[in-house]
Amino acid sequence: MPIQESICPLCGNPSPQGAVCGRCRVKATCWFTCPPRIPITACPTCGARKDAGVWSDGGEEREEVVRSLVSRSILFHPDLHHPAVEMVIHDMSSNRSRVDCTVRGTLYSEPVEGSCTIEVEWKKEQCDRCSRISGSYYEGIVQVRGTGRRLSSREVEETRVISQGILESLVAAGERLAFISEWDEHRDGVDITVGSQRLGQEIASAVTRALGGRFTTHPKLVGEKAGKQIYRVTYSVRLPRYSRGDLVVVRGRYAEVTGIEGRLFRCTDLDSGAQKLVPEAQVERLVGKRSDATPWLVVFRDRDLVGVMDPATGLTREIPAPLRADYPPGTTVRVFLDKDKPVILE
Ligand SMILES: [Zn+2]
Ligand SMILES: [Zn+2]
Repeated sequence: MPIQESICPLCGNPSPQGAVCGRCRVKATCWFTCPPRIPITACPTCGARKDAGVWSDGGEEREEVVRSLVSRSILFHPDLHHPAVEMVIHDMSSNRSRVDCTVRGTLYSEPVEGSCTIEVEWKKEQCDRCSRISGSYYEGIVQVRGTGRRLSSREVEETRVISQGILESLVAAGERLAFISEWDEHRDGVDITVGSQRLGQEIASAVTRALGGRFTTHPKLVGEKAGKQIYRVTYSVRLPRYSRGDLVVVRGRYAEVTGIEGRLFRCTDLDSGAQKLVPEAQVERLVGKRSDATPWLVVFRDRDLVGVMDPATGLTREIPAPLRADYPPGTTVRVFLDKDKPVILE
């Protein structure tokens, strides 16, 4: 093989078949490009980021955001193998970072290395969700009320926990416009202002699942946008007349409401301890609440009677002994008063 065919025509170094050698091809190739500046748009209120016009809740740290955006912004020549980027981030101010990048790879069998500096600029813009909240936009109100009674503080708290849980799961599923913009507790109940109808619907059904009762939906046309009718929906949740922990009289017998199943109340008979499901019509009246019961000392036990000392007066009162336990003297029982009559809860 003639000698001139095995050297590079550009640099004269050995080259198989006399082609332009790897090093000369590398010199003639622009193998990576870095943008001088990358803007990152973030919401100053909630930290959401806008990417290609779309807001999302990343939840990543600022550094992670910078790293992923910078590595996506560096473009490599398709012939480059094993590209790698090393970054050193300098935060210049709250809205600017300078990123020194070292890029490496293998091009035409030659190891290559280069560097560039990218300036990251943080821009503040209110996101779609925050601007809706600050603009008082909403799509519905969930109104939670009791039937012929106020909500108990436990029901209010459970409603709050349920609502929060549903909100978090919708947001985690990417439903950005699910938000609760107002939580209003008042004597009639709770009003929850929601940013999306899906959130309102799910809260109303979860609350009735957990606390009983039913809900109805009342849409109201509020306008039109781009030919589409805009509705606001009121989800009217009615909790049942009785709730867990209520002490009631069912067909002449004392019972505690321990749960709600559909339209029936699960009750424990305070005498026998038996459980049964009772329709509302069988509940004669509300006597009190479990939280009204206080500890009383058992002073004596005599066949069908228990003598208990009223801690308020120090007087011993006689109560018919419930069948469901022994009540030996010296133990404590929990007692509530039906008007003035003591009744053993447990
Ligand atoms: Zn060469
Ligand atoms: Zn925001």
